Amino acid sequence: MSEPAQPPAAPFRSIWFDCDSTLSAIEGIDELGTLRDDETRRAIAALTERAMAGELPLEAVYGERLRRIAPTAAECERLGARYVAQAVADAALVVAALHALGKRVGILSGGLRGPVLALAHALGVPKARVFAVGVRFDSRGHYVDFDRDTELWRSGGKTALLAARPADERPQALVGDGATDLEAAAAVDRFVGFGGVVVRPAVARGARFFTSSPRLAATLAFLLTRDEQSALRTDPRFANLRLE
Ligand SMILES: [Mg+2]
Repeated sequence: MSEPAQPPAAPFRSIWFDCDSTLSAIEGIDELGTLRDDETRRAIAALTERAMAGELPLEAVYGERLRRIAPTAAECERLGARYVAQAVADAALVVAALHALGKRVGILSGGLRGPVLALAHALGVPKARVFAVGVRFDSRGHYVDFDRDTELWRSGGKTALLAARPADERPQALVGDGATDLEAAAAVDRFVGFGGVVVRPAVARGARFFTSSPRLAATLAFLLTRDEQSALRTDPRFANLRLE
């Protein structure tokens, strides 16, 4: 069961966000699936749902989904634009507020790196703090394979990456909607489940801190100390940021 908002006693130095269904209201792989025939699309969405619900390990569906879709470079570029168009309404403002408080903000995603970078750019998240899965295309922009060296396409990938972050970035917190985010809770000082786009029952049940508010700013009640929240309330740049 989740607990009511409880500000941390000490400030977090880094805040990580998941991308799909957290910073943007779409699932990138499913979007790419809609470009293919009905049967492919349904198969892709079903695989995603089972992985996000924690019924299947991510690696059991990852390569299969991409192989079936084989997205082109142009399609990946359009997906980036779609991530931006469907960004959660207050995501850019939340990122700006966290930066104003001196925090490092990053994106940790099992999605495709190119499209996730487009969203990061739109939200003001520095490229160096974006971790996602690279894709290789041939000279004509046709899909070849994804980068299997990154850990992010496997269950446990986010956990491993977060556990390896340097000491000067801690304490660190993670915000996300899915099973791989909840799993990574063990590697951060605080995990906040975000159900503002879609509530995943396993995450709502398993997360100590959870919000189903459609506003990303609702997570700040769990991420910022009382002093930090006060600082934002008196900063005119963030007058439109609705803290709880
Ligand atoms: Mg997600």
